[in-house]
Amino acid sequence: MKINKLLIANRGEIACRVIKTANAQGIKTVAVYSEADKNAQHVSMADEAVFLGPSPSKESYLRGELIVEKAKELGVDAIHPGYGFLSENAEFANLCAKNNIIFVGPPASAIEAMGSKSAAKHIMEKAGVPLVPGYHGDEQSEAVLKSAADDMGYPVLLKAAAGGGGKGMRQVWNENEFSQALNAAKRESMASFGDDHMLVEKYLTRPRHVEIQVFCDTHGNGVYLYERDCSVQRRHQKIIEEAPAPNMSSSIREKMGEAAILAAKAINYVGAGTVEFLLDEDESFYFMEMNTRLQVEHPVTEMITREDLVYWQLVIAEGKPLPKQQNELTLTGHAFEARIYAEDPDNEFLPSTGTLALLRTPRETDVVRVDTGVVEGDKVSVFYDPMIAKLVVWGENREVALKRLISALGEYYIDGVSTNIEFLKRVAGHPAFISAELTTTFVEKHHDSLFNSAASDDTQDKIPAMILLVMLSRKRNACVAGKTPAIWSNAGAWRANSQHRESIALLFGHEEILVEVKHQSSLTTSSWEISIGEKTYIATGAIIEGVLHATVNGYKTTYSFSTNDGQYTLFNKDTHSKFSVISPSLGDDDSNEDNANFSAPMNGTIVAHLVEKDQPVTKGQPILVMEAMKMEHSITAPYDGSVEEFFFQPGELVDGGSTLLAFSSKEAKEA
Ligand code: ADP
Repeated sequence: MKINKLLIANRGEIACRVIKTANAQGIKTVAVYSEADKNAQHVSMADEAVFLGPSPSKESYLRGELIVEKAKELGVDAIHPGYGFLSENAEFANLCAKNNIIFVGPPASAIEAMGSKSAAKHIMEKAGVPLVPGYHGDEQSEAVLKSAADDMGYPVLLKAAAGGGGKGMRQVWNENEFSQALNAAKRESMASFGDDHMLVEKYLTRPRHVEIQVFCDTHGNGVYLYERDCSVQRRHQKIIEEAPAPNMSSSIREKMGEAAILAAKAINYVGAGTVEFLLDEDESFYFMEMNTRLQVEHPVTEMITREDLVYWQLVIAEGKPLPKQQNELTLTGHAFEARIYAEDPDNEFLPSTGTLALLRTPRETDVVRVDTGVVEGDKVSVFYDPMIAKLVVWGENREVALKRLISALGEYYIDGVSTNIEFLKRVAGHPAFISAELTTTFVEKHHDSLFNSAASDDTQDKIPAMILLVMLSRKRNACVAGKTPAIWSNAGAWRANSQHRESIALLFGHEEILVEVKHQSSLTTSSWEISIGEKTYIATGAIIEGVLHATVNGYKTTYSFSTNDGQYTLFNKDTHSKFSVISPSLGDDDSNEDNANFSAPMNGTIVAHLVEKDQPVTKGQPILVMEAMKMEHSITAPYDGSVEEFFFQPGELVDGGSTLLAFSSKEAKEA
C-alpha cells in the first residue's frame, strides 16, 4: 500500500525530523498538537495540523483513539509514532491495523513480546541469543533466588521483570546483603509497577552499552546498520552516543549484528528496531532488551551509513523490500550525538523550564546537524521531555569527529533556561572520553572533574570582559533612555568625562567575587581599570550588532552575550559564563528567601518526604523527593528553617508548576 499522507503522532524534534523525510518523499504530513504546542515548529512544518487537547500528555499525545479518529477524518494512510508516547503501545498498533491505517512500526505481537524482561529473555534464550548469566524463572522464593545468586557468584544485579528506567534494580555485592537488597528491590518494583517478580543477573562491573540498529521487512529480510555506543549515561539515561563503537573489532561487530538479527527474527520483527547489549571487558556480550521503535540516537547511524532511517521505515511500512542488503551497506567515518537538555547538571540534572530567551545554534553543514523542534522565544514547558536538541557531528575518524563536537558545542548559546552544554563539553573534553575509556559508570567514576559549579579559574580570566559588558550595557541603556545616569545610579555610577571608582560584586551561583573598577573616559574613548585581588587589567571595547568586542590588556576577543532578568551570560567557544551583579553588601543568602522555589519542575509523582513537618532543617538538606521524567529529583532547603506543610503525600501525582510545600525560615519562626 502506498503512503500518500502521513500523520506524526508525536511532537518536538522527532516530529520535525519525520516531516523532513516525508517532505523529501512528496508525502503529505499531518501534525498533532496540544494546547502548549499551538505555535510549535512541528505544527508549522506540517501541511495540516490537528488539535488534540490540553497540554498533559495523557490528555493529548497519548489519546490513541482520538488520534486514529482524526487520521480517518483526514484520509491519512499511515501513522508514525516517533519515540516515547504511543510508539511502544501494542494496543495502539492494533487499533491502527483495525482501522486500515499503517502503523509505521512493528506488529503489535513483537511489541508485546519485548514488554516483559523475563518473557523477552526466555524468547532470546530459545533463539540462542547470548544472555547475561542469570536466573529468570518463575520460582520466586528468597531461597531459590539466593541460591541462584550464590551459584553465579557475586556481585549480582536484582532486576524487576516489569522494570524500566532503572527502577526496582539493586546491586548485591555479597551474600550477607542479599536479603535486604531483595526486599528493597521488590518493594520498589511493587510500588512502581504493581508487580514484584524478580530476575537475578550477574552484575558486570565495567560494561559498555552497545546497541545494534536492525531493520526487517515483511518479506523475511533482515539487516543490521552497525552499532552505537551509548555507555555514557547518567541515571541510565544516555548523554553522548557515538557510532561506530570505538575499539570494536569487526569480528565482534559481525557476531553482535548477527545476534541482533537472530533476536529480531525470533519475534517476527518488522521495521526499525534496536537490540541493546552489554559488552564486557573480555568482549563477551549479552542481550539486554530490544526497543521496538526508532531511537533518539538514530542520527549517528545515519551519519556513518549515509542512509535515511525514516525513509527506510516508510519503505518497509509500504510493504516493499529493504532498500539495501547487508553486503550493500558501508560504514564510513565516525559520528557523535550530544543531547542538549534544559536541565541543571549541578543540581542532580533537575529539568529546567522557561523561555528560550537566546538560542544560537552552530552552523549546519554536511558534517554538523542540529535536530530540534524549537526556536528562540519558544518555551520549554513542564509537560514534556526537556530535550532542546540533538547535536550530531561526523568526521573521517573519531578524533576529527570529537574535535568537531567540542567546537560545535562551543557555538551553542542558550539563555533563559539552564542547560547541560557546559557539562557536555566537560564530558567530551575529558581525557578518558578522548581515549575512549567508555563504560556505563563513566559519569560516576569521573564525578569530581565533571561537576564544578563554582567559578573556575577559567571563569576568573573572563571577569574583565564581564565587567566591560556590564559597563557598556549601562552606558547603552542610559543612551537609549536618553537620560542622565540617574537610572543606573543605584548600581554604582558611570559618568561621562570623569574618573570614577566603584566596587562591584559579581555573583556566580553561590560564589561572589569582588571587583574594583576605575572608569576613565575622554570624549572619544572609555576604558576601565579593573582590579581583582592583586591583578589589574585595562579593558576597552564596544558592543556592535549584539556582539561584545573586548580588548583586555591589549588582547582582543569577541563574545556573544545575553542579558535576561538581571542575569548576564557571556558566550564564546571556551566560555558560557553566567553571572549577575550585586551590591557588595547585599549578597547575603537570606535575601533570597522570596526566590525560594518549591514548585514541581514538571509532571510527576511524589516519592517521599525526607523530613517531618516542623522538623528543623539546615540549608541544602534534602526535604522531598519527586519522580519526573523517569528520574528522581530532590528538593532541598534553600535556607535554615522547617517545612510548615507538605501539600502532596508520597504516591500522589502532581502537575508541573504546582507548589509542593510551604517552608518558613528559622528567623521567621523565631520572630
Ligand atoms: P531499564 O529497562 O530499567 O532501563 P535495563 O535492563 O535496560 O533496565 O538496564 C539499564 C542499564 O543498567 C543498562 O544500560 C546498564 O547500564 C545497566 N545494567 C543492566 N544490566 C546490567 C548488568 N547485568 N550488569 C551491569 N549493568 C547492568
